[in-house]
Amino acid sequence: MIQIKNNEQLALMKRAGRITGEAILVGREHIREGASTKEIDTAIHDYIVKCGARPSFLGYGGFPGSACVSVNEEIIHGIPSKDKILHEGDIVKIDVGAYIGGFHGDSANTFGVGKISPEAQALIDATRESFFRGVEFARHGNRIGDIGHAVSEYAEARGYGVVRQYVGHGVGHELHEDPEVPNYGTAGRGQRLYKGMTIAIEPMINMGTPNVRVLRDNWTVVTADGSLSAHYEHTVAITDGEPILFTKVE
Ligand code: MG
Ligand code: MG
Repeated sequence: MIQIKNNEQLALMKRAGRITGEAILVGREHIREGASTKEIDTAIHDYIVKCGARPSFLGYGGFPGSACVSVNEEIIHGIPSKDKILHEGDIVKIDVGAYIGGFHGDSANTFGVGKISPEAQALIDATRESFFRGVEFARHGNRIGDIGHAVSEYAEARGYGVVRQYVGHGVGHELHEDPEVPNYGTAGRGQRLYKGMTIAIEPMINMGTPNVRVLRDNWTVVTADGSLSAHYEHTVAITDGEPILFTKVE
């Protein structure tokens, strides 16, 4: 069931979103050659707790980290590890949620380690841009298909693969609420969007095919062809006019 939020609830989501967005930036500060993905996770955990919030992902479905930290061909759900060391040229996806005041924020971004290839930078830039193409349609009266259509049209025109097996979602009192928000779709089709809906729009874009597989740890989702993947996500409120990005803090 879709949960429509009133102004008071939206204010609480704004607070959860701000902490989430700030936690992403804290994680970014810890990305460097030689750092482990666990170091990034620990910094994010400590920041969220310092803010009086709870890391949404910690223990979610048994997930052992406070952030998902996914490197190169890992798309999402990378488990932070002291044995996973970053190298120059890697691209790192940080995905974070913070829960406070009864509501969650959810956000992800992709960063390079030192100097990265022009191809990797282009993938990161296109993934971010595909989000903004999609969010433009996140308005009262539009439909879910409008968002996914805009995301996939942009990414596929550049030869990238748009992940279909994992999708965006409603977010609020629960980390994952209805409706699903795919990064593909048909314009004018799907669930109608209403003022007060809050959704996570999160394109996952592969340099190769859209196909994915899950590693034996039962969490980490990787590209089936081993190609690089990028991820960009914000928690978005639907309004009469411009969508509000609760997790965008810079
Ligand atoms: Mg997320
Ligand atoms: Mg999400």
